[in-house]
Amino acid sequence: MISVAEAEALILEDVPLGPAVALPIDSITGEVLRESIRADRPFPPFDRVAMDGIAISLEGWRSGTKEFPVAGIQRAGEARKSLADVDTCFEVMTGAMLPEGCDCVIPVEMITLENDLARLSEDCNTDSMKNVHQFGSDRKEGDVLLDSGTLLFGPQCAVAATVGAAMVTVSKRPRIAIVSTGDELVPVDATPEPFQIRRSNSHAVKSLLAGAGFHDTELCHLHDDLETIETGLGKLLKTASTVIVSGGVSAGRYDYVPAALAKLGVQQVFHKVSQRPGKPLWFGIGPEGQRVYGLPGNPVSGVVCCHRYVLPALWKALGAGLCPLDQRPRAVLSEPLKFKPPLTLFKPVSVGGDASGARTATPVKMGGSGDLAGLSDSDGFIELAAEKEVFDAGTRHPLWLWSDPTMQVQTRR
Ligand code: AMP
Ligand code: MG
Repeated sequence: MISVAEAEALILEDVPLGPAVALPIDSITGEVLRESIRADRPFPPFDRVAMDGIAISLEGWRSGTKEFPVAGIQRAGEARKSLADVDTCFEVMTGAMLPEGCDCVIPVEMITLENDLARLSEDCNTDSMKNVHQFGSDRKEGDVLLDSGTLLFGPQCAVAATVGAAMVTVSKRPRIAIVSTGDELVPVDATPEPFQIRRSNSHAVKSLLAGAGFHDTELCHLHDDLETIETGLGKLLKTASTVIVSGGVSAGRYDYVPAALAKLGVQQVFHKVSQRPGKPLWFGIGPEGQRVYGLPGNPVSGVVCCHRYVLPALWKALGAGLCPLDQRPRAVLSEPLKFKPPLTLFKPVSVGGDASGARTATPVKMGGSGDLAGLSDSDGFIELAAEKEVFDAGTRHPLWLWSDPTMQVQTRR
């Protein structure tokens, strides 16, 4: 049986980069950039007044003058004015061009302004270009500001906007099929018979994907019948580049998913990973390169495997990489834990902080991989290495958070 690291490597190996699409700037939050965004001019594009106050010439200041008659006002959004007399000043506002002939700004807090005369306070001090955001001091024209592969949030949108990128080229989100299998499963709005349960895995997977911005999903349910599963999956493989199947991959008599996928020409890459929960995880690649995941039906297994394996692969197809292993965000285990089997343990945890500010992970009491109610008390899960049996309090382990689907993704290039 392969390890978690091997399974991850096999899933992430040769993930084809998906297509790109141009989107309006206000629709790119959380998307992955697929172009380089460069400075269209120097940043800032002029000597920008950084505080409200007066702009003066150091020449006038050095002569010892404490009172400067206001020669005019330089407002933000006005063409640059010029100071004719070094013993006078311009009243200036943040965002205005520094008037020609001026080389510093004295903030309003250091002056009193009366009858067009600015008087400097006793403790007033200044220096060359003080309170001026200097032309070209942040970036040169043509500098790359954002690289392809960057995840776009507020600060990156600001950069795209400021260089005039009304349309931004980002990765196109793929179409994903989510399939549940099982004769015991009924829809959410049905009243189950005593021997039935409502389908929850497909909704959990849909929610996980939606939380990461993958909204183009199609839900489908198939009964435990080889032909039904083969026909159903065959149809979905024509329209979706990723197919996520829940259930039917274990060793039961009616677990037909691997057999049906084989008949459809989906090449099995692996079946079973040395992990708990989620040991029966199945992964294969379809004739057209479709990624097919067979998630174990047990609710905790399905959710954990989807978050741990499927999401990273989807991010990679968009052009965003997973953090290298040694840089993965971790949490401090708050209490000791023993786990004997030679398997990686994905332990659902509640997350908090300790006095030092470190993020802590406290195992959630749960009834096993079927306890979906218990799982809802967790904030995510930590990944405990297969090689160890005892995990001391205070040790750090990779953390996967439900609320942050980009937690283990490299957000900047
Ligand atoms: P399976 O992997 O099909 O053998 O399913 C393992 C367990 O998970 C069984 O108890 C199933 O009833 C349960 N299960 C499978 N699929 C779902 C689902 N979509 N929602 C809730 N439970 C499920
Ligand atoms: Mg089943």
